[in-house]
Amino acid sequence: MADSERMAGVLESVGYVGSEDASEADVLIYNTCSIREKAEQKVYSALGKQAKRKRERVGDLKIVVAGCVAQQEGQTLLRRVPELDIVMGPQFANRINELLDQANDAQVCATEQVAVEEDITTPRRESNITAWVNVIYGCNEKCTYCVVPYTRGAEQSRRPEDIRREMMALGEAGYKEVTLLGQNVDAYGRDLPGMAADASGRRAWTFTDLLRYVHDVPGIERIRFATSHPRYFTDRLVRACAELPKLCEFFHIPFQSGDNDILKAMKRGYTAERYKEIINNIRRYMPDASISGDVIVGFPGETEEQYQRTEDLVREIGFDRVNTAAYSPRPNTPAAEWENQVADLIKSDRLNRLNKVVMEVATERAQRFQGRTLEVLVEGPNPKNPAQAFGRIRHNKLVYFDGDGKSLRGQLVMVRVDECNAFSMFGEVVEVVGARAAQPGHEQVLTEEQAQAQVLAAV
Ligand code: SF4
Repeated sequence: MADSERMAGVLESVGYVGSEDASEADVLIYNTCSIREKAEQKVYSALGKQAKRKRERVGDLKIVVAGCVAQQEGQTLLRRVPELDIVMGPQFANRINELLDQANDAQVCATEQVAVEEDITTPRRESNITAWVNVIYGCNEKCTYCVVPYTRGAEQSRRPEDIRREMMALGEAGYKEVTLLGQNVDAYGRDLPGMAADASGRRAWTFTDLLRYVHDVPGIERIRFATSHPRYFTDRLVRACAELPKLCEFFHIPFQSGDNDILKAMKRGYTAERYKEIINNIRRYMPDASISGDVIVGFPGETEEQYQRTEDLVREIGFDRVNTAAYSPRPNTPAAEWENQVADLIKSDRLNRLNKVVMEVATERAQRFQGRTLEVLVEGPNPKNPAQAFGRIRHNKLVYFDGDGKSLRGQLVMVRVDECNAFSMFGEVVEVVGARAAQPGHEQVLTEEQAQAQVLAAV
């Protein structure tokens, strides 16, 4: 979504206008995901229809495939669909206008590794309340199932001052919430020059330093980040999140499996025990924090017993949300070549069973909000019921309530929660607090000393 917004912003800056109707557009862009095979197949089926339209259309029509499928397929895609004008990897999102110019003369394949240029355009953001801000592009990890390092390239951190400048502009424009983005945000700063002045041996910039540096940006009331990697998730980061009031008590930390041998085969670099330690540490400082994760079932060689350990971990942690997926072999990844692939039927059976467990655990976990009054940032009218508004609490859970979503859009309101489901809640407004940061979630945040005392007491 962030890349799509960036491309739309570049195109608007040179005079293009977005069209609601694809059949009227002069430029069609498919921004693609290749994380699973299904997403990739969807692109090919959509392209078939558009290629036919291009052959029949009088006048110019440019068809672009951007994103990770483009990066992965490159020239193959151009050969398979000769009507295509541009195939461009995600690192070229800021340069789509240049590529469109080049495509006037010949087909363009932009998939070589490049340094992502600092953004000089304003993305055309879908929301005027919440915004994505990239902090690091690419990934240097080598998880054996993942196609991302092959499609998004090596890590490239943006300069802290550029990130802060983008957030200042967002705050001035009335945005209230920012999500800092990276494939692995915890790697932020590893490629930036210099070492910390305090002789700690740390790099000059870590993700924790970045959070502290951007935290006071005026106008921005809430800061979130995604995605974290358990291998690099530090206690220092947890303490900063507990201390900084704008940091929301919501953590998305993929765990991928509850079995240590599977984690090793995935090359994830941590154990289930270490993962539990991280979550326990978060809850020591922020007992009410929401935890979400990603998990894969049916990774090559996964036995029923190993799958059970994943179920056990989901129950033990008590996740608020888990994005579940059946393992999908991806090109260029080591695990795709292994012979011990799990049969599709077994994978889908495990996925169904795990989804039930996730639903059960998330529903149970959601009950802690019942009867509480929580700060909601209103995002607008409920698309399915205009008499209702909806927004999110700091824990990233959706809340619906009776009210005028249009006039409340962008406001912080206090909602008393009357009904809690696994992924959404219903309630009633008790107060409109406007744009002030109410931070009710931090009522349960402990100071470092209090947390240490609690740990000692437990010991
Ligand atoms: S850290 Fe995430 S993006 Fe990077 S290789 Fe592993 S799964 Fe893929």
